[in-house]
Amino acid sequence: MADGDCLFCRIAAGELPAKVVYSDDEVMAFRDVAPRAPIHVLVIPRRHLVSVMDLRDEDTPLLGRIFAVIREVARQESIAQSGFRVVSNAGRDGGQTVDHLHFHVFGGRFMTWPPG
Ligand code: AMP
Repeated sequence: MADGDCLFCRIAAGELPAKVVYSDDEVMAFRDVAPRAPIHVLVIPRRHLVSVMDLRDEDTPLLGRIFAVIREVARQESIAQSGFRVVSNAGRDGGQTVDHLHFHVFGGRFMTWPPG
């Protein structure tokens, strides 16, 4: 169910602007407003889930769709061959700042390890 106070629910509903790079009935991808890499796209389920901790066994097909979109975004953004990083921050220690499940797709430069 959409959460009227949730930033990404509002983007998914078209109530707030975003640079959308992919959209279907279940999944959306749009550019991060404060990119941390030359390519920085967020992939979200339209349905409101707070984090990976909200996923249930029956959400396995949704996760498959999300990762299919991640592959599609990587191809569209020409980073499929050079490589990229997928990150989903969860909770306080994970550094999550928007409480709607999202997957960061970072690319276009070498990613250092470990993350900070
Ligand atoms: P996280 O800190 O992992 O929860 O990631 C949230 C991300 O959402 C951050 O990278 C923000 O820059 C990004 N963000 C916040 N507001 C917007 C917005 N209106 N449009 C696009 N990205 C956003």
